[in-house]
Amino acid sequence: MQREGNGHREQYETREHDVLIIGAGGAGLRAAVAATERGLSVGIVSKSLLGKAHTVMAEGGIAASVGNVDPEDSWRQHFMDTLKSGKFLNNWQMAEIFAKEAPDRVYELEQWGALFNRTPEGKISQRPFGGHTYRRLCHVGDRTGLELIRTMQEKVLATEADIYMETTVTKLLKKEDRVVGAVGYTRESGKFIHFKAKAVIMATSGWGRIFKVTSNSWEGTGDGVVLGYDAGAEIVDMEMMQFHPTGMVWPPGVRGLLVTEGVRGEGGLLRNSEGARYMENYDKEKMELSTRDVVARANYTEVQEGRGSEHGGVYLDITHLGYEGIMKKLPTMYEQFKNLADIDISREPMEVFPTVHYTMGGIKVDPETCATNVPGLYAAGEVAGGLHGANRLGGNSLSDLLVFGRRAGEGAAAFVGESVHSADIEGDAVRTEIGRVLEPLEKGGEGESPYLMQQELQVAMMEHANLMRDGDSLKEGLGKILALKDRLPNVRVGGSRLFNPGWHTAQDIRYLIQISEIILRTALERKERRGAQWRLDFDGPDEELGRINFIVTKNGQGEAGIERREIPPMPEHLSSLFEEEKAKA
Ligand SMILES: Cc1cc2nc3c(=O)[nH]c(=O)nc-3n(C[C@H](O)[C@H](O)[C@H](O)COP(=O)(O)OP(=O)(O)OC[C@H]3O[C@@H](n4cnc5c(N)ncnc54)[C@H](O)[C@@H]3O)c2cc1C
Repeated sequence: MQREGNGHREQYETREHDVLIIGAGGAGLRAAVAATERGLSVGIVSKSLLGKAHTVMAEGGIAASVGNVDPEDSWRQHFMDTLKSGKFLNNWQMAEIFAKEAPDRVYELEQWGALFNRTPEGKISQRPFGGHTYRRLCHVGDRTGLELIRTMQEKVLATEADIYMETTVTKLLKKEDRVVGAVGYTRESGKFIHFKAKAVIMATSGWGRIFKVTSNSWEGTGDGVVLGYDAGAEIVDMEMMQFHPTGMVWPPGVRGLLVTEGVRGEGGLLRNSEGARYMENYDKEKMELSTRDVVARANYTEVQEGRGSEHGGVYLDITHLGYEGIMKKLPTMYEQFKNLADIDISREPMEVFPTVHYTMGGIKVDPETCATNVPGLYAAGEVAGGLHGANRLGGNSLSDLLVFGRRAGEGAAAFVGESVHSADIEGDAVRTEIGRVLEPLEKGGEGESPYLMQQELQVAMMEHANLMRDGDSLKEGLGKILALKDRLPNVRVGGSRLFNPGWHTAQDIRYLIQISEIILRTALERKERRGAQWRLDFDGPDEELGRINFIVTKNGQGEAGIERREIPPMPEHLSSLFEEEKAKA
């Protein structure tokens, strides 16, 4: 290895911006618009091509109480639905801001050129979704994310922001207690860049890839949450992973691919192998439109108890819409099943089973500004935690990206405005990081394959941290993950730096292991059944734990320290909403 002092001799480029945004999904792009509007120099880094983030995959819609279809809807009802679905672990301040601002962000998107489906009167159309009291999801067929990202991309390309595509950030740089930039490498050439910045916004999304069966793309390896954690950021609610009730099960190559909740929103029915609409045994009132945690457990239980379909799922039937109706409202689902499984969903039911989908936990932020506890570091989108509590409502992510993406951009811009510090760093931090990233490539001799380690990890997480959990199994899973952690220094890959997927996986595996360890540790601490955390060794929710978030930070020994932090009581104008509802019932 080419070393000089403590670092590598590699040459690297330096780029400087006021605000560096890591991630070019909905959250990162909305933050970029906000920061450029303040006249700041903005850099956006994305490890994939622009437009390839999870946001583009979003199907069902964006939740906002615009009240076009159900005029009775209001921010108050959206707020209450979000908290009830999150089993009151949510940061209520975030939820209030979110519910109040979501309609403005949807109208803004429309003004910027997004073409939504329309009601007969020409208003933005809204469809029902699980756990939403009213029809609330503004949508573009089942391609809402594509329209959102197309619109945001056009908006960003009209700004002066610099975009670094296919560039992976591997470390945040700090000067004293402040984040002052990052180190990354371009995937095409393997060359390194030192990004200097007065503020950094993390918008890197979730970590579904710690599980084998997931709706997430290859990008979902949780880089941002670990980069933040390593820099000293607090992270919250990490035990809360969302299993979406309906992923594809057949053929095996597409297992886990999402079947949008829009199918149930448009009247899709769930049946078991006996033809029974079993949701009446799990949520008689809301049936198929119950919250995701409830429907996922129902689907899982039906299969476990022997009432599953041929390929180990349950049946989801949308045939009542007919070919015309499906092509109007769910064209992607039609093509997905026709092309991948040779199934015509206008004639036969789909087979579906839960798939890992979304991460409620993440970097803890200030609700107003999206600032983390580390000066100069901001976070928004799926990588941030707090808004969704123990279970996210469908459609609430896309509006989250726009509401808090904008706030992160403005928060970071205000910080830059007040900042008198330079982003220069002293010492060898960049070269030391380059040496660390190149180590798996430059190390000679025998070593561990990052692919095989990733497979082992995914199998362990499926076995020990699935949607039903118990203490003994979680402990066994933690043992397996810690053993993988011990093997991390042995990771070695062959080949060159040019588009070398093995080398990229050697970076990812560190994140996957760290996140899995934290999930298992926090899942062991939360000794109850609540939302996505369903402990079979406990009977139900625990009253005291209903007022607690688990906050994880890296302690002085480099270990994950867990703090139980009490959720502050809701102010009267919010708590009275629930009391009034109770009184009416
Ligand atoms: C199939 C599917 C359907 C969905 N449908 C809906 C829906 O209908 N409604 C809804 O509300 N939600 C939906 N969701 C959830 C929602 O799409 C995501 O939660 C949301 O898009 C995440 O947006 P984001 O901006 O946080 O991250 P993303 O859109 O995933 O963007 C993350 C960005 O970070 C970059 N990145 C990651 N790591 C690094 C790194 N180390 N260095 C540099 N760049 C990095 C990525 O390349 C990418 O540009 C769906 C999700 C999926 C997977």
